[in-house]
Amino acid sequence: MNRRVLVLAEPEGDGVTEVSHELLAAAFRLAGDGGPVSAVLPTPDASASMAAAETLGGAEVLLVEGPAHDGRTGEETAAAVRAAVEVTAADLVLLPHTATGWDAAPLLAARLETAVLTGVSSLQWSEDGLTAERQAFQGKFVHEVGTKRLPAVATVERGAFPARPAGSAAQVRTLASPLSLERRRSRLLEIRDAASEGVDLAASDVVVSAGRGMGGPEHLHLVEELASALGGAVGASRAVTDAGWLPHDRQIGSSGVTVAPKLYVACGISGAIQHLVGMRGSRFVVAVNKDPDAPIFGAADVGVVADVKDILPALTRALTGADG
Ligand SMILES: Cc1cc2nc3c(=O)[nH]c(=O)nc-3n(C[C@H](O)[C@H](O)[C@H](O)COP(=O)(O)OP(=O)(O)OC[C@H]3O[C@@H](n4cnc5c(N)ncnc54)[C@H](O)[C@@H]3O)c2cc1C
Repeated sequence: MNRRVLVLAEPEGDGVTEVSHELLAAAFRLAGDGGPVSAVLPTPDASASMAAAETLGGAEVLLVEGPAHDGRTGEETAAAVRAAVEVTAADLVLLPHTATGWDAAPLLAARLETAVLTGVSSLQWSEDGLTAERQAFQGKFVHEVGTKRLPAVATVERGAFPARPAGSAAQVRTLASPLSLERRRSRLLEIRDAASEGVDLAASDVVVSAGRGMGGPEHLHLVEELASALGGAVGASRAVTDAGWLPHDRQIGSSGVTVAPKLYVACGISGAIQHLVGMRGSRFVVAVNKDPDAPIFGAADVGVVADVKDILPALTRALTGADG
């Protein structure tokens, strides 16, 4: 059966974010053969967003235009998406699981009196409606969730679907936004860069990252020494930054920094999807993990099944020529 699927596209530069193309790929799969796929792009100025709209290959693009759409708050986004749901009669609305998406999705679902599935990494139609997988307890469990109620709303993790290549939109239409400046109850005041210790992970050719498998902050010197021997920077998984072993600005992944170094060394990192999306652009990946089934090995060029406390000092010694 064909379903109507609508995605929220997030503008970035002259185009849209990578995750917008990932959502489009998911939408075309979930819409079924030839099922209509639309994309909504809220904007204060439709003519300035035309180039971005044109990259949304194969989709009917709705530019929801109005002066209230200058900040991408949850309220603004939900209002624009809701207007697009009315026009497209969508069965399913996909939003990226980003600050914009997770702010807007519950508001949108409440307005549509429907269910919202957040942070999903897979989606399929079943006899019962829509089912999805999402992680719980910091990736320790995957649970299946579902809704029978349509339209359904879901926020999708970055990296969950391979991006659809950019191409020409099927059609671009402009809708007047239902949200006026007078009715708007929230507005973006300022975006501040998080305080950083000056480590520019994104610009480093070599990144050596610590995961929970390092066992505690007292062992992080092993990662720092290897990074120094390789002339690289130290990164981390969220488990490490959440535990306070390293500051948040070292976190790599969907809620941290995206890196694409020449060499990425993952030390005691399991390879959760939220981590992988932040480092999958790396040219060469070495993973050290004592679990041979760890998902990180699926993303690695070289996998070492070993204890980090044995292998990291040995690697550092080999690189520096220090006696051991
Ligand atoms: C909304 C959301 C956003 C998120 N954003 C991010 C993000 O930006 N970045 C991120 O990293 N995560 C993120 N996460 C968390 C993510 O799901 C994982 O929980 C996290 O990446 C796990 O970190 P880890 O691999 O260090 O720890 P674990 O998953 O606990 O893995 C530890 C690994 O170390 C191995 N190990 C243990 N001891 C040793 C040893 N002695 N030697 C070698 N190997 C050993 C284990 O086999 C295991 O594979 C996010 C989660 C959510 C829900």
